[in-house]
Amino acid sequence: MQNVTFSHYQTYKPNPFTANERRDVTLLYGGLTWKHETLIRGVLENLGYKAEALPNVSRRDLDTGKELIDVGACCPTIFTTGNLVNLMKDKVANQGVEEVAKKFVFLTAGACGPCRFGQYHQSYSMALDSIGLKEFRMLLLAQDQLFQASVGDGLEINLSLSLGLIWAILVADLLTDLEYMTRPYELNPGETDQVLKESIDHMYRIFREKPVQSNQWRALTWHLFTDHFVRALREVHAKWTAIEVDRLQVRPKVKITGEFWLQTHEGDGNYNIKRWLEREGAEVIPPPVAVWLDYLFHPVISELEHRNDKGRSAFLRKKTLAAVERIYRVTYNRLRKALGYLPNELPDQMELKKLAEPFFHFELRGGEGHMLIGKALHAYHHKKAHMICELSPYGCMPNTMSVGAMANVLGRYPELLYAPIEIKGDAEVHALSRCQMILAEAKQRAKQEFDNALRASNTSPSAIRAHERSHPKLRQATFRVPHLGHAGTSTNYALTLAQRFGNA
Ligand code: SF4
Repeated sequence: MQNVTFSHYQTYKPNPFTANERRDVTLLYGGLTWKHETLIRGVLENLGYKAEALPNVSRRDLDTGKELIDVGACCPTIFTTGNLVNLMKDKVANQGVEEVAKKFVFLTAGACGPCRFGQYHQSYSMALDSIGLKEFRMLLLAQDQLFQASVGDGLEINLSLSLGLIWAILVADLLTDLEYMTRPYELNPGETDQVLKESIDHMYRIFREKPVQSNQWRALTWHLFTDHFVRALREVHAKWTAIEVDRLQVRPKVKITGEFWLQTHEGDGNYNIKRWLEREGAEVIPPPVAVWLDYLFHPVISELEHRNDKGRSAFLRKKTLAAVERIYRVTYNRLRKALGYLPNELPDQMELKKLAEPFFHFELRGGEGHMLIGKALHAYHHKKAHMICELSPYGCMPNTMSVGAMANVLGRYPELLYAPIEIKGDAEVHALSRCQMILAEAKQRAKQEFDNALRASNTSPSAIRAHERSHPKLRQATFRVPHLGHAGTSTNYALTLAQRFGNA
């Protein structure tokens, strides 16, 4: 009988990354937009690390990922694995396996629960192993812990790092909001992208050159009370004033929701759908990462409420978490204020939970949990968007549950325009044409809403144009259009001016 030898599966354990290596080792990271990643580089360099963001995901990464990991993996796992492997292949070709294993460490986030987010690093290690990088180090960070141990003392996960990363994410989110609300209306094509690039470069320097605090409590108080970022954002706001816009262009507003990676990503990973929607005539509401961070507080708060534990420690824990969340929202609004309150406010998490409650239990975690439904209903009830474009990854179990529950929501609210788009990475025409069908109806609604508003307020585009000529500030990107109960920017703008004429 033939002897068969087995090599048993062993969970991935990285070799330590030590403080002595910090000067020579580059931290690799990715998974967000170039804006978030640039500011995160500023934070890491400020603390003395060498840092490099992974290149943006491309279609080539999907092909590589498919070859290397299990066929049932969800589309974000396949894309991000292929992305990491392609980068490492290039580095190995230039520097050799040993040097690459020594000189780079990959930082990745993880969680537990029903989704593959908790197993990404296993896919990465399997794929890296297949290109000879078994010894390559990956550090897995839990997304909901501000303090945690890393493998070795090379990476210190403390308040200076965690708060720096959170502040970088908030600033990148706010600038992304500004980007998407300005570009569709710009008069000089390319101007928004140019000013955005200058703003991100400026904020990168602000993060890289911020003072480093000597201990953790100083880091906390400094982040909470400093004017360092507020001042810089006021300078950014002044740059956006130079962009001239025409807000009488009637565009449907499309809110992007869906799985975290897919909705945040800007590139081939989601068929570049945000830029595509803009080319098709829409204004996109991008999903801020800040909403996800806010959501992370809530399962613990809700769980404590649910258990109805009357004990002192549960009470204190609940109060502390609620206070932390309040501080978080105050900080977001403080930064928003520096940008003239132009970026959107964060939705109330308790309201999202309540709206979703009849359809999806808040304790069903994984993916976006109840938020997918909560956000769609929030946009619908508050008239924040004409249409929801929901990005569902191929092979995602949690998302399939949410989309299933959405069928019930649509039964109750048939007038809600909802386009669930399954993203496989290689079926672009199918996905975009599906989105186009719903978008056609959203365009009609936006036009109808605008015409009705003009009629009701007894105003006209020519009267608005005449007023604009004598008030050039109205055509600046930094003029804030208040939300007057309608989804469309052009409608709210027309009504704002009608109020000035005394017509509304
Ligand atoms: S939510 Fe879905 S797509 Fe995202 S990591 Fe989990 S399983 Fe994959």
